[in-house]
Amino acid sequence: MFEKTVPIRIRLTAWYMLLVAITLAAFGGFVYLNLARGLYAEVDAGLRTLAQEAARGIDNENGSLRFQNTDTSSLISSAPSSTLREAGNGVIMRLLNEAGNTADGVGEYARLPLPHRLQTGFSNVRISGEPWRVYTIRIELPSVHSAYVLQVARPLGAVDETLERVAGVLVLGIPLVLFVAALGGVFISGRALGPIDRVTRLAREVGAEDLSRRLNLRLPDDEVGRLARTFDDMLTRLEAAFEREKQFTQDAAHELRTPLTVMKGTIDVALSRPRDAADYRAALLEMETQVDRLIHLAESLLVLARAESAKLDLNVEPLDLAVLVGGLVEQLQPIAEAKGVSIRYDGPGTLPFRGDQDRLIRLFLNLLDNAVKHTPAGGSVTAEVTARPGSVEVTIKDTGPGIPPEHLPHIFERFYRVDKARSRSEGGVGLGLAIAKHIAQLQGGDIRVSSTPGKGSVFAVSLPTSR
Ligand code: ADP
Repeated sequence: MFEKTVPIRIRLTAWYMLLVAITLAAFGGFVYLNLARGLYAEVDAGLRTLAQEAARGIDNENGSLRFQNTDTSSLISSAPSSTLREAGNGVIMRLLNEAGNTADGVGEYARLPLPHRLQTGFSNVRISGEPWRVYTIRIELPSVHSAYVLQVARPLGAVDETLERVAGVLVLGIPLVLFVAALGGVFISGRALGPIDRVTRLAREVGAEDLSRRLNLRLPDDEVGRLARTFDDMLTRLEAAFEREKQFTQDAAHELRTPLTVMKGTIDVALSRPRDAADYRAALLEMETQVDRLIHLAESLLVLARAESAKLDLNVEPLDLAVLVGGLVEQLQPIAEAKGVSIRYDGPGTLPFRGDQDRLIRLFLNLLDNAVKHTPAGGSVTAEVTARPGSVEVTIKDTGPGIPPEHLPHIFERFYRVDKARSRSEGGVGLGLAIAKHIAQLQGGDIRVSSTPGKGSVFAVSLPTSR
């Protein structure tokens, strides 16, 4: 639910905030604990020094011990810690005998609680609600038989105050930093994701009529920049595809209209006045030619439509490519001979291959048919089959007029003809090469053409064998 409705920029910011919050909390905790440990260590070191100094200066007066120097300031002046020196006058010292009775004291020692069972070491106590640090040691003097206990204490007020101030800065500062980071996060992710919104808006608005629209965003070459550019490129391709389809429909309509117009004219002429049987026959023969043209066109369109959309129902089966191409050459032999063109097959006797037999026949027949059609009497057509590692190459060469270089890039386009009038009079509709190319690509291969005007053309089909 959350994932679906909350904008990605807020989600990104929330994650980013969580990370920043954890990092800041960990960092703040670390700083605070380290500082506290350092300050306490300093206090303890000071108390230890103070206790040593005080112990050294204890006198034995008639069997009971006394502090020789009760001026804690002078004792403390030798202490290493500045905080301790400042707190010098607040220091309390007390000397207890083994029974727990006070033998001597400095400062307001009466307020200092007695050590529990005269235990030594550091402890924290509260005196009138204030925190104090107490250090307790045992003293063994050679001149005295019983042991004594020395307590040294100082207030922790300054230390706690420092720590409180630091904690205050952290508690106020962290949310402030988080707030600024959140604003920055929303702003930065908004800026970064803004172009995506524009892509979405344009994608929603673009229809078939306005495929010419583009984002044209000037963005760096990052993920979003690439997305925007890819989107524009996609629109360019779509626009070109739509243009091609429009052109195709126009061309197809034109191709349909031409024979129909001719037929209509023939009928009008035949019906304009009574005629004899021979005239009607001539008219019907003319119409038959046009009907054949229409049938050929309809078939070609059907084959093309299937070749373009039939990736799924490609009927791949084992076949012999040498036999297939050789057979087509044989099939065209009579037509070529009638034109005075020699046609031959040049290749191995057998070449196992896996492909769609019907479509491959259509592909090579279109190429061979073109070659024979365009080659004048006395010329020759050769179909070469060569096995290469991973592919086979079928090359159809002719010694015809060739194709002018400016036409070569368009020759595989639908309805494209070099010489429209001549091609049409020969029954060509300009779909043969488009169909051939689609079939080759359907089988994972391709067709290349090279031609020398006046010398002839070469159509090379390469088909992969390992698929
Ligand atoms: P068509 O049905 O008109 O032959 P194609 O698509 O088969 O259409 O060929 C397109 C154009 O390419 C033809 O009009 C023709 O001018 C040219 N062409 C194709 N094959 C050859 C060839 N072997 N020699 C010369 N021109 C060719």
